[in-house]
Amino acid sequence: MTYRAKESSRRRFIKMGLAGAAAVPLANVLVGRLSHAEDMPKLDENDAQAKSLKYSHDGSTATAEDQTCANCQLYAETEGGWGTCTLFPGKLVAGEGWCAAWAKKTG
Ligand code: SF4
Repeated sequence: MTYRAKESSRRRFIKMGLAGAAAVPLANVLVGRLSHAEDMPKLDENDAQAKSLKYSHDGSTATAEDQTCANCQLYAETEGGWGTCTLFPGKLVAGEGWCAAWAKKTG
């Protein structure tokens, strides 16, 4: 094996090691985030902030327009039609829910 081939092989090995080292914490964050979301309680409609924003699990009763948590910029679905909202950390909101802070999803 030539010096150049050895050097190339060593570089590939180092790159793969760095990629693997970066992938492990990312996977832990993603798995931790998902399992954490499953453990979250659903937002209580009588929560003070929920009431102040007129949040409802059933957005069809709150707004006539096609505005739901599922198409809101602040929503991230977890599973089963529920998801997280940046306004209610640690709680799940309904995908079919709505509140007065609704913002059109842009991406
Ligand atoms: Fe739902 Fe958006 Fe209101 Fe959060 S900000 S509760 S995702 S409508």
